Amino acid sequence: MTNKLTISCEFFPPKTDKGIATIRDVRQQLAPLNPEFFSVTFGAGGSTQDNTLDTVIEIQQAQATTNIDAAPHLSCVGSTAESIRNLLHTFQSHDIHRIVALRGDLPSGMRDPGDFRYANELVEFIRKETGDYFTIEVAAYPEVHPQAESAHIDLTNFKRKVDAGANSAITQYFYNIDAYLQFIDRCQQQNIDIPIIPGIMPINNFTQLARFSDACGAEIPRWLRKQLEVFHDDLESLQAFTLDFLTDFTEKLVEQGVPGLHFYSMNRADPTLTICQRLGLLD
Ligand code: FAD
Repeated sequence: MTNKLTISCEFFPPKTDKGIATIRDVRQQLAPLNPEFFSVTFGAGGSTQDNTLDTVIEIQQAQATTNIDAAPHLSCVGSTAESIRNLLHTFQSHDIHRIVALRGDLPSGMRDPGDFRYANELVEFIRKETGDYFTIEVAAYPEVHPQAESAHIDLTNFKRKVDAGANSAITQYFYNIDAYLQFIDRCQQQNIDIPIIPGIMPINNFTQLARFSDACGAEIPRWLRKQLEVFHDDLESLQAFTLDFLTDFTEKLVEQGVPGLHFYSMNRADPTLTICQRLGLLD
């Protein structure tokens, strides 16, 4: 079952010593999944960028023993070409060979988009500056990016990133398998043949998830929303329910032959570990 299925996990950069210790612990707990890489998000426009760098350097330094690559996310909006070039050199000097290349969103109050308008320009720049040194992942949106004028235009824009040299894509999270499958079909019609890895978002808190989903354009199906609403503050029951739901959901994706699974870990080992354990993906 696990033959070609690649697993990766995403963290957000810790800001405190306690957060740093938590990630170390979570990395250790997730290691038995043999993830291909641990990625670390990057705040567009400045915030938390040093924390991202420190975290990926630590992950990459451990690579010799863990065999798990570090993959910094790199969002270009609000950046100059010079600052991105410097970051690429820094990654190279730490033997980091992967990047999740993104546009990001300009923080409110920031007006200058900088030297890059869209992620395809960043991918192009990385290839121009460093050739094939980096394996580049980009973002994909089975339910359409919230700013896109249409699904078709969004797909055309996704293809620009692939044509610019992306090796693989990770999707925005979704809870509707048909949306993913249809997206894959539409990609095939456009001759997009890179792996498109579904991003799996655990559900730890309904209010947070609903707010985030509205902002990023991920739909929580009505039946699921109605089920989740019932739990109110009973987080334990909500988590038990969502673990069952996500196990079933992930199993269906695996049955559909997805090339991999990317877990938005939210810096927790559970539920990623439990889902994978239930699906027999643990060594
Ligand atoms: P793009 O691919 O540039 O697309 C953005 C919008 O512009 C889309 O509507 C697209 O249709 C349109 N578009 C794209 N190219 C063109 C073009 N050439 N001409 C005209 N229109 C175009 N954000 C962070 O800040 N930090 C992170 O670490 C981070 N990690 C993420 C990881 C994943 C797996 C995903 C799915 C998202 C992540 N995000 C992160 C969020 C992401 O930055 C936002 O969704 C952002 O709004 C779009 O980024 P993008 O790289 O998909 O942009």
